Amino acid sequence: MNPWINANVISIKRWNNNLFSLFLNAPIEPFYAGQYTKLSLYDIDASHQKRIQRAYSYLNAPSDKKIEIYIVRIENGKLSNLLYNLNKGDMVFIKKKSFGFFIINEIPDCENLWMFATGTAIGPYLSILQERKNIDRFNNIILIHAVKYQNELIYLPLMKKLHNEYNGKLKIQTVTSREKNINSLTGRIPFLIETKKLEKHIGLSINSKNSHVMLCGNPEMVKDTYSFLIKNRNMIKHLRRKKGNITMENYW
Ligand code: NAP
Repeated sequence: MNPWINANVISIKRWNNNLFSLFLNAPIEPFYAGQYTKLSLYDIDASHQKRIQRAYSYLNAPSDKKIEIYIVRIENGKLSNLLYNLNKGDMVFIKKKSFGFFIINEIPDCENLWMFATGTAIGPYLSILQERKNIDRFNNIILIHAVKYQNELIYLPLMKKLHNEYNGKLKIQTVTSREKNINSLTGRIPFLIETKKLEKHIGLSINSKNSHVMLCGNPEMVKDTYSFLIKNRNMIKHLRRKKGNITMENYW
């Protein structure tokens, strides 16, 4: 049984017209960093009460009891628009137990752990990196956040703070696909891997001998990057029963 329970909106930070973070308080069961929950509200416009629900990852570390969820408002998206208009003190439903296996305990030991995210899919990595459990076994962790425009890098300050706290173990790299910026690489993730621009810039290579790749975000990015890595870098999907080098999560 995994009931819906009430979550209280502590605050909402609307970063711009589309991107926002919800801060919630709810008696959920303990979860693992990288997992997701479901939020729901009733559609008040429907003739009969209809629950609208969507999956969202936690961005907060599990040890931080204030739930933080980073969300993009989808044009005509029913739930994301309702959530965007919530205010302090409002109520939303959340699942008591969390979901998913995109967690650090599922990643085998390796030298270089590559974390690729597009858009709001940066959330699970920030949860993992803030929790900092079972992660010192990697020599290097490379967090790559790809967005369309530089002003969508909402969590860059937290990425920089984590970079400093990890004392050289964590490298961070931003990517903007639709504009050039001095501190970001330009283009899409598969292109930056294929052309080796990313690896040259970071100074580490993505290979089946010493790397594990985590992919989270736009399903097309996940699919295209995965296909490239299996065809060109000799990598395979990681399964519990068969060790591999790629772990994936589609985001919407
Ligand atoms: P997104 O559309 O998934 O874009 C995030 C990043 O993923 C971009 O750099 C994008 O590159 C890249 N990407 C898309 N397809 C790819 C592929 N096949 N391979 C590799 N990279 C790929 O995420 P989002 O911008 O957060 O938007 C999510 C949803 O919200 C979408 O439905 C969007 O229409 C809607 N929305 C978002 C905003 C916003 O402020 N973020 C505004 C309006 C609407 P490209 O630039 O090359 O596509």
